[in-house]
Amino acid sequence: MPAAGIPARSAVPSTTELSPIWHPSPNFSERRDGLTPSLVVIHYTAMNSAKAALDRLCDPASEVSAHFLIGGDGTLWQMVREEDRAWHAGAGEWEGQTDINSRSVGIELDSTGSHPFSEPQMSTLEALLPRIMKSWSIPASGVIGHSDMAPGRKSDPGPHFDWQRLERQALAKPRAPVTASATPSPEAFRAAARRAGFTAPVDDTQLLAAVRLRFRPWAQGPLETGDLNALIPPGTIT
Ligand SMILES: [Zn+2]
Repeated sequence: MPAAGIPARSAVPSTTELSPIWHPSPNFSERRDGLTPSLVVIHYTAMNSAKAALDRLCDPASEVSAHFLIGGDGTLWQMVREEDRAWHAGAGEWEGQTDINSRSVGIELDSTGSHPFSEPQMSTLEALLPRIMKSWSIPASGVIGHSDMAPGRKSDPGPHFDWQRLERQALAKPRAPVTASATPSPEAFRAAARRAGFTAPVDDTQLLAAVRLRFRPWAQGPLETGDLNALIPPGTIT
């Protein structure tokens, strides 16, 4: 849970080139242990409007926030300075690391998650991501979804989020090309998932669901070759 009693600041946000609308949230704290962002976590709000999401993300009683919110029309709001620790990720783990809030910048997309994300919204995201990645030296592999670090608990940004579009612009880690092989064993799948960063302790069903949300949201049924292939780094000989 977030630390209480930390006063809000009204410093000018650092991301100014995109001219985000500064809409400060009191829901933040200092990053722990001197950490700086090494990840970007993408969410959707699961609310009916950007206004409703802004209200909630800035309500002290909600104890949640994010650094940025992107409206369906592409409007960009900033609620927490990138230097500070917003409260968006919660419990979870990625690449063996916990306290994702101290390690990440959180971006909320105004959406119920039930339909594709709009072009203006994606365009703003694609303008914002390179800025954040440059500021903090975050590689493409550091751009993850909430469901990646909290499988079984979170499913955003969900099956309608176009990860391949980000991958093509080096704004997310590229997936492996599809190769044919025998149906993978659960052990091989678990091991490959761990190597790809999915280290949160969940059962095989939740792990498969999280991997598919990121790489293959159209896939259904039991573990198959494509699930394993998606986790193998490009260029790896198998
Ligand atoms: Zn989320």
